[in-house]
Amino acid sequence: MPGKFKGIETKLIHSGEPDPRIQGAISMPIFQTAMFEYAGEKGYHAIRYIRLNNTPNHLALHQKLAALENAEAALVTASGMAAISTTLLAVLSSGDHLLAQDCLYGGTHDFVTEDFASFGIGYDFIDGEDPASWKKKLRPNTRAVYVETITNPLLKVADLKAVVEFAREHGLISIIDNTFASPVNFRPAEWGFDLSLHSCTKYLNGHSDIVAGAVIGRSALIEKITHKLNHLGGSLDPHAAYLLHRGMKTLAVRMKFQSESAMRIAQFLEGHAAIEKVNYPGLPNHPAYQRAREFLNGFSAMLSFEVRGGVEAAERFMQKTELPIVAPSLGGVETLLTRPATTSHSGMSPQDRLKAGITDSLVRMSVGLEAAEDLIEDLERALEGEGSQRARKSARSTAIR
Ligand code: PLP
Repeated sequence: MPGKFKGIETKLIHSGEPDPRIQGAISMPIFQTAMFEYAGEKGYHAIRYIRLNNTPNHLALHQKLAALENAEAALVTASGMAAISTTLLAVLSSGDHLLAQDCLYGGTHDFVTEDFASFGIGYDFIDGEDPASWKKKLRPNTRAVYVETITNPLLKVADLKAVVEFAREHGLISIIDNTFASPVNFRPAEWGFDLSLHSCTKYLNGHSDIVAGAVIGRSALIEKITHKLNHLGGSLDPHAAYLLHRGMKTLAVRMKFQSESAMRIAQFLEGHAAIEKVNYPGLPNHPAYQRAREFLNGFSAMLSFEVRGGVEAAERFMQKTELPIVAPSLGGVETLLTRPATTSHSGMSPQDRLKAGITDSLVRMSVGLEAAEDLIEDLERALEGEGSQRARKSARSTAIR
């Protein structure tokens, strides 16, 4: 019920909850039933069945997610990739063309570059930070434009306002993957995006124990995507729906705490002699700093950095840390480290990765809920002995400037 509560913290707890409460239950019960007794529903998509995405667990999540982003409607899916692939296949048909940001999440990049051709769909990549260059990529059959709020793993922020304006001017559907920002830091519908996508596996659930996805946006489009999902079958299981519902309630406090820690860690790393470069949109020298301040309510809790000494130094550092877990994925309560070249972006060719600015030695960090001072102490210990004397001096002078 968008509009009923003002604060996102309140919406996370109260929007979409059953009214009246089911048997007085404070938390949403799990409806572990594949089908429901027929009650005169009209039409295939209205039949109550888990795959048709309309059990009480689905509906409660749909209302809560729509309320969080001040959007008209929402849909949960079996994974973030189910949300992405189903949405793209619902809005694009054979003969259509997509404009997509050039540094997408690896799975999305692979879906576009490897699977689109078999559906007869074309694409071109655009530089999200250079709106003047978009028009020459436009074709008469371009139907949609696709960007990410904060990109993975370089934490770039496109000119999001210009994306919406461009889409409106050329009659395109504007789609944004809002996973890294979460509804706490960016609400795409408020900026005019037609559709917002999430891997709920990450911040929305926040506990690294399910995969799930969501599509949030205009009701006519959500209905179309729901019908496509009903056919493709990527529906969220009720137990995962329950865990997502439960995890989401603490999203705001988690995101705020994690973002504050990420800022402290980014500042610490930036001043460290063994670190060559830090990518965090909350640092004033990050190329996206001004745009991040303009569009986002917070800078989120993802950062990436280069350890001096290349891949070996990066690996050594990762193995020496004690608190962060070396694992892919992000957005959970545990701090995670990964080298995107070996995980999220391993599907890209080395040439494409380098073109996108993703070196083999880049380390990505998802900052969790541990105390920032414990994390910093651990990082400091793991970096001991890395970085040469010369590097130490130049880093110090850069930090002072
Ligand atoms: N979008 C982004 C930005 C991601 O980082 C990921 C996964 O890492 C996905 C989508 C895909 O989500 P899932 O793993 O839930 O399918």
